[in-house]
Amino acid sequence: MTSALSRLRGRFDKRQSSDQLSERVRRLLVTTLYAQPSSLAIGALCIICAASVSAWIADMPELYVAAAVLTVIATARVAAALALDAEAEGNSTATLELVYEIGAFSFALALGCTAAFVIIDGSSTQVEVLMVCNAVGYGIGVSARNAGRLTIAMGQLCLTCVPIAIACFWTAKPGFITLGVTILLLIPAMISICGNIFTVLRDSIASAETSARLADKMQVLARTDVVTGLANRAGLNHAMVETMMGVDEKSRLALIWVDLDRFKEVNDLLGHPVGDRVLNGVAKRLREVSPEGSTVARFGGDEFIIFCPINNRQDAERLASEIHAEIMRPFRIDGERLEVRASLGVSLLPENGNDADTLMQSADLALYHAKVGGRSRTCFYDSSMSRDLARRREIEDELRAAIQRDELSIYFQPIVDLETGRIKTFEALVRWFHPHKGELRPDEFIPVAEETGVIVTLGNWITAQAARVAATWPDDVTVAVNLSPLQIRAPGAALGIKSALREAGLDPRRLELEVTESLFIEDNHATAAFIEELSDIGVRFALDDFGTGYSSLGYINTFPFSKIKVDRSFVSGAQVGRKSDAIIRAVAEMGTTLGMDIVAEGLETIDQVQVVRDAGCNLGQGYYFSRAVPDYLAAMLLAQEREQDGRRASA
Ligand code: C2E
Ligand code: CA
Ligand code: CA
Repeated sequence: MTSALSRLRGRFDKRQSSDQLSERVRRLLVTTLYAQPSSLAIGALCIICAASVSAWIADMPELYVAAAVLTVIATARVAAALALDAEAEGNSTATLELVYEIGAFSFALALGCTAAFVIIDGSSTQVEVLMVCNAVGYGIGVSARNAGRLTIAMGQLCLTCVPIAIACFWTAKPGFITLGVTILLLIPAMISICGNIFTVLRDSIASAETSARLADKMQVLARTDVVTGLANRAGLNHAMVETMMGVDEKSRLALIWVDLDRFKEVNDLLGHPVGDRVLNGVAKRLREVSPEGSTVARFGGDEFIIFCPINNRQDAERLASEIHAEIMRPFRIDGERLEVRASLGVSLLPENGNDADTLMQSADLALYHAKVGGRSRTCFYDSSMSRDLARRREIEDELRAAIQRDELSIYFQPIVDLETGRIKTFEALVRWFHPHKGELRPDEFIPVAEETGVIVTLGNWITAQAARVAATWPDDVTVAVNLSPLQIRAPGAALGIKSALREAGLDPRRLELEVTESLFIEDNHATAAFIEELSDIGVRFALDDFGTGYSSLGYINTFPFSKIKVDRSFVSGAQVGRKSDAIIRAVAEMGTTLGMDIVAEGLETIDQVQVVRDAGCNLGQGYYFSRAVPDYLAAMLLAQEREQDGRRASA
């Protein structure tokens, strides 16, 4: 029995493979066999009634048997249809088709034979009409219904009609012979009709399938990042929406925003193809390290997002450090070793938000903090970040407006020769007179200006103002302007300084630019070029806040500093004592040897002035001499000095 079944199935499979129809179209056509079971039931019921009534009228035991056989087959078919779910994936198309075929063919054959028997018996015209009409009607109706599977449709028609036709010819009566011929003619007619129905059905299903598949493909493409094969923005959104729909109060999720540090340099220096390969490598590692059920997406540029289920915060912390470790593993590209680092911002559901937007914003803020806090780190979101951001945004907006509204001023603080007491330089220090908040210290807004990039505009404005004022001073007084690293690295930085000098008509040798050690943490080509370009025209450079930063003497040797400003913490800070004294002495000695001026910052008392002078500093700056003052007061200080000079000369 089993071998017979497998043979049957083998025959079936062979037929299937030779079939031109794609599996999905075939499947849909086969499901049409199982669709509308009511039409099948009505057909079967009519036939069973006809056979039973015929048996009763003719009182023939054979017809009772036939009615019973038809009932058994019909019941078995209904049971099989109920047991086999045509929509379920588990049931193969071949099985569904075979089961249907066995039921349909045996029912059709039983019916055809019953009608044929009635004709051959010839005892009751009533019964003949009843059975033949029902059988032929069933054969035609069912073949039209099953046009989706032509073999089944034609098989059913032939199995009902051919026995009847044979019986008709058997009687050798002209009426029956004519009936037999017309019944046989029905077969080619129905083949043609069903063939047409089948073609239309198959083509429309196939084209619907094609467009559905195309739409699927387009959708996948639209949600995939071409470079890495990860989800893109749209893909991430889609995945997040789907995940968020299934979230309940027990769900915990982490959103990790990964931003590669200084990836732009990889692109600029090694080219985009290499950049793409690095992105690909990072994507692969992120995919590997992410837990099951995660969505890993590339969020444009060098940013990635991992959205994943977690059990607790520790899970997210562990994952974040694994991500760092994976990304930091050097890449090998064309035999070259390449190291990449990343900053991570993490937000958690439900702690930091219950919807996708809030989680994204929180992770973004956390990432921002990670980057500002020195990069290559992970920051978890906390609510103070939002407050910080609001304050910064406010200052940023107002700062842009402040430049336009003339709320900013430059004040000047003298730097004095400790031997003669004469003003050698004025340091330009920016002040912001806010209409509501009053005077704001540069420490409050310069960092914001640096982070937001406003410093470039602001810095150019300060240099231009300072140069204009300095041009009105005597030729031997110089002006010092503070420069932020960001300003120096901005494109066209040197040009900005040069045009400020030109517009003010100030000799470049009278401008001093104060830079801090932080500028040299990164070995940056732009910095060196900037310093060289301006040094060439005579602009001088001072190293500001010396002793607070990295204090590598290497760059003092590399760059042409004319001045070192010892930070005020050495003069008036908590650590002031023998140690700081020794440091000032050492720096002063180096200054004398290398021909550099050494400025002591933050001198507030005469004692401090004495100490630094004894230690060897030749210049001093601080409240002891003067606070930073507006330009007209700076001019007055200079005028006073000249007046004293004049008096001394005439005396
Ligand atoms: P800095 O370059 O070290 O400037 C010296 C700071 O020390 C000034 O503060 C000055 O007012 C203060 N100071 C001077 N003498 C004394 C003293 O005897 N005792 C004490 N306690 N402080 C003294 P200010 O003007 O608030 O500037 C703070 C910082 O803001 C500056 O430090 C500088 O780094 C930055 N900054 C100021 N103006 C500008 C600017 O125009 N551009 C840039 N990029 N940064 C600026
Ligand atoms: Ca300074
Ligand atoms: Ca300083």
